Amino acid sequence: MVVGLQNKSEMKYLNNWINGCESEPGNNLYLNKFNPHNGEIISCFADSQELDVSMAVDSAQNAYEGWKSFSPVKRGELLLQLVKLMQLNFDNLTHIFAIETGKPIKDANGELLGAIKLGEFFSSEGMRMFGRTMTSAIPNKQSFTIREPRGVAALIVPANTPMANIAWKVFPALICGNTVVLKSSEDAPNIAIEFARLSKTAGIPDGVLNVIHGTGLSAGQKLIENEKVKTISFTGSTIVGKVIANVAAQRLARVSLELGGKNPFIVCDDADLSNSVNWALLSAFSNAGQRCAAASRIIVFEEIYEKFVQLLVDQTQKLKLGVCTNSNLGPLISKKQQGMIKDIVDNTVSQGGRLLCGGDFPKEGPLSNGYYFYPTLIDNVSIDSKISNTELFGPVATIYSVKSLDEAIQLANNTSYGLTSCIHTKDINRAMYFAKNVKAGVANVNTGTFGSEPHMPFGGFGDSGNGTREPGTDALEVYSELKNVSILVESEFI
Ligand code: NAD
Repeated sequence: MVVGLQNKSEMKYLNNWINGCESEPGNNLYLNKFNPHNGEIISCFADSQELDVSMAVDSAQNAYEGWKSFSPVKRGELLLQLVKLMQLNFDNLTHIFAIETGKPIKDANGELLGAIKLGEFFSSEGMRMFGRTMTSAIPNKQSFTIREPRGVAALIVPANTPMANIAWKVFPALICGNTVVLKSSEDAPNIAIEFARLSKTAGIPDGVLNVIHGTGLSAGQKLIENEKVKTISFTGSTIVGKVIANVAAQRLARVSLELGGKNPFIVCDDADLSNSVNWALLSAFSNAGQRCAAASRIIVFEEIYEKFVQLLVDQTQKLKLGVCTNSNLGPLISKKQQGMIKDIVDNTVSQGGRLLCGGDFPKEGPLSNGYYFYPTLIDNVSIDSKISNTELFGPVATIYSVKSLDEAIQLANNTSYGLTSCIHTKDINRAMYFAKNVKAGVANVNTGTFGSEPHMPFGGFGDSGNGTREPGTDALEVYSELKNVSILVESEFI
């Protein structure tokens, strides 16, 4: 049964992927997936419930011993085959998630390239996965560490960069020897299934990678509650992250939480103005601001405030909405998100915020059925206001004037989050002072608030996470157990 669907025969049905093949939901219920560009239904995805989730977990559990018994090098070879298939199917993959998310195709291409790089990095990790050798106080004792997998990993992702989010978790989990149940985002289900299909073609055994669609409350919640799940890696909102941490704590499941951000972008009076305007523009508005690492608070020294703001507003007003090759911003992922952002912007303006540009969505013309929002800049807001402290996950940034670097850093650190940050200055002393004192897992200088690479650790302070770092080799700490092996050797042999 499909909820609200008119033309059932032409619709694409997205089933779960369990034990190497498609699996219809037990209740035969599907949910509609809308195209954010025009509001049309593009597919229906399984509305999975507890039974579907436990089938997927059992499939992963059954495949675990076999996958674990492969050497990391062998696992890496199979993962590299998957990477090659991602390259061979480049256009098909980008098409799928560009349609699902409303991303302009050039953005989707960049995202898939990043996912491929990440896959290459972790496939090669099969040939490294280094342990440590250690000295001992005991004569003739040899001591070292090895890594072992943890079992079934539940990987839960959002839709903002769906291909990157999937790769970011699946590759490190699998190279370590875990098996996986991936909970797709309800806003980007198709790409998760296509990825799982490719994993089978790559020769990854059935059951090693399973995919479950559905809502957070039914599919996601049942997945995290399943006792057989030993590791939960979640990327999403802070509010859901806290729920997951609570559930996992009851059975001491390991949890990695990559959560929200309210990231500061500081522009000092000695900054290269044109460079800082370009990076502010990208940091605030690329991917329609739907980045955990988006710059949503722009903090500018008072000496250059008027000039900087004028330049930024001019550039912002030139940005084009749409999905064509020359567009800069696609739509938001859902109508709900569009409505939430409109409400908070209106509320801010009604309380005295000065709307510098944007503030609304297209009301007529070809984009009016989509979930678009004009890139928006607002100043004259208090640092304690709702908009200064709430992650909007859209193309909206607030701007603040400050008198000194200390005031800028104090303002930067004034939210409960601490994910990424950036400063623009030509002064190395200012840059280092900022890097040392900003409360954030990422501190960038003269670039954007985003830009992590596959071999770099990413994660946040405070409400932005629970202290884990993914990806890079730091992700191995999430997906493996460390075992210390010590051997007392007869002295004549060493
Ligand atoms: P969300 O928390 O609503 O949902 C994320 C995923 O969790 C979805 O798959 C959803 O179905 C699932 N989910 C929801 N409730 C659940 C529950 N009770 N149990 C288990 N799973 C559940 O987030 P969203 O709105 O889809 O994504 C936006 C958020 O993601 C923003 O806060 C953004 O900052 C964050 N994000 C963080 C990073 C990072 O690396 N730190 C990267 C991208 C996005």
